[in-house]
Amino acid sequence: MSSNRYIPAWAASVADALGPGPHVVVTGISPSGNIHVGNLREVLVAEAVVDALKAKGERVRFLFHADTADPLRKIAPGVPREYKCYIGHSLSRVPDPEGCHASYAEHFLAPFEEALRRMEIDIEVLRSHKLYESGFYAGVTREALEHTAELREILQEVSGRQMPEDWSPYSPRAASGDLSSTRVVEHLPEEHRVVFVDGDGREDTADYSKGVGKLLWRVELAARWKALQATFEPFGKDHTSRGGSTDTADRMAKEVFRYPVPGRYEYEWIQIKGKGAMSSSKGIVLLPAALLEIMPPDALRRIVLGRDPARALDLDLAEGFPRFMDGYRAETKEKPVPFTHLVTVAQTVRGDVNAAADMLRQGGYREAAADHEKLVEYLTYARNWTEKWAPEALRFRILLLSEAAEAAKDLDEDQRRYLDIVAPQLENSMSGEKVQDILYSTAGELSIKPKKAFSAVYTVLLGKKNGPKAGPFVAGLSTDVVQQRFCSVIRDTTTGGVEG
Ligand SMILES: [Zn+2]
Repeated sequence: MSSNRYIPAWAASVADALGPGPHVVVTGISPSGNIHVGNLREVLVAEAVVDALKAKGERVRFLFHADTADPLRKIAPGVPREYKCYIGHSLSRVPDPEGCHASYAEHFLAPFEEALRRMEIDIEVLRSHKLYESGFYAGVTREALEHTAELREILQEVSGRQMPEDWSPYSPRAASGDLSSTRVVEHLPEEHRVVFVDGDGREDTADYSKGVGKLLWRVELAARWKALQATFEPFGKDHTSRGGSTDTADRMAKEVFRYPVPGRYEYEWIQIKGKGAMSSSKGIVLLPAALLEIMPPDALRRIVLGRDPARALDLDLAEGFPRFMDGYRAETKEKPVPFTHLVTVAQTVRGDVNAAADMLRQGGYREAAADHEKLVEYLTYARNWTEKWAPEALRFRILLLSEAAEAAKDLDEDQRRYLDIVAPQLENSMSGEKVQDILYSTAGELSIKPKKAFSAVYTVLLGKKNGPKAGPFVAGLSTDVVQQRFCSVIRDTTTGGVEG
């Protein structure tokens, strides 16, 4: 539950600055394409502030405003080119490009909502098209239409762009579904209607209490603060730049809607190391679900927020990831098995939990070995990470006996003798340290450099010249498997060599 979660210092100071409530914390995302981990940062920033407010005893409503009424502006990567005909139509009224959901908006919203559920984020999801259709925004729409001239003036002053004479804060929807080509010519406030001309010059009317259109995005932002009674909303830097949407919304809220500007937090973007800033429109996207495959929800919270969400985050899911997981688990007070060791175990046992528990016990991790449920969970993270993100050096598979015989052909006489002498010294249920001792001392006795000796071990087990720390790794394997590869393999290839 939220009450147990750690509250970062930045969130506590945001909450202090907000003052007494009741509070309404809002986040807003347009489902115009994949909703990625960068977008998740917005929700998690808000959640941390919600937690901090609750810790102060405040009443808080936490909202996710999905901008489903927003028009389709451009074709997201992976969406068919023919979708050009829907540009200007509300995302809630554009068909799902893959045909699996009720609309384009739902197709991109559903996986994100699922991630929010899996993370147990206690948030109300609102769809803007439903709010428009229910008449929720009728009052602020009327206000906006009645102050058209002032809104236009603010927009011009802040953005520095000249707006057309017939500019309107409201876009009625034409019969074709298009919001972008209509032009309001008259406001009939008593009937909550506008008279408009569509792109073909036809005149029609639209009832703005029934969702036949929407406010322009910049006006909607200020209007929804008032309608939702928002007291806090985080924003990414794309909105908070000079002349950007928060600059216009702030003035519109104060001067037109007579509503105090909600508290704000500016969060920075997330980059994927080596790929650049995450962006749906550029196809650089990492979905929350992909990260939930390699870490628990609380670790995802931590990695996405980072030390300070006001700073850009370079997400390293390859080399740096094991260190992050170890740090996370150390803080959560579990006795952590190093993540790289879990990666070794997961690849060695291939789904056999009892074998994994044995291997951990031999490595000295009794506590972790005893908790099977947690062990299954973490083995899954380790396996998924190895498949998708691990650097090549950490990936391996135990060779079949026939493959081991083939790989052993690369070994020289010293290395064969070394394996032959090590093999009979190994016993089941030896500790990792004990095996490490045997591997070292035998190399010393034979005057073989340890690197060369260990390379022989990895060659017949993994077909590689190096691998995970040898002692615990070999101790975790069944002694039969190791001995077969250490000695029978040697004899076979040696004999083969003599005959050939
Ligand atoms: Zn779909």
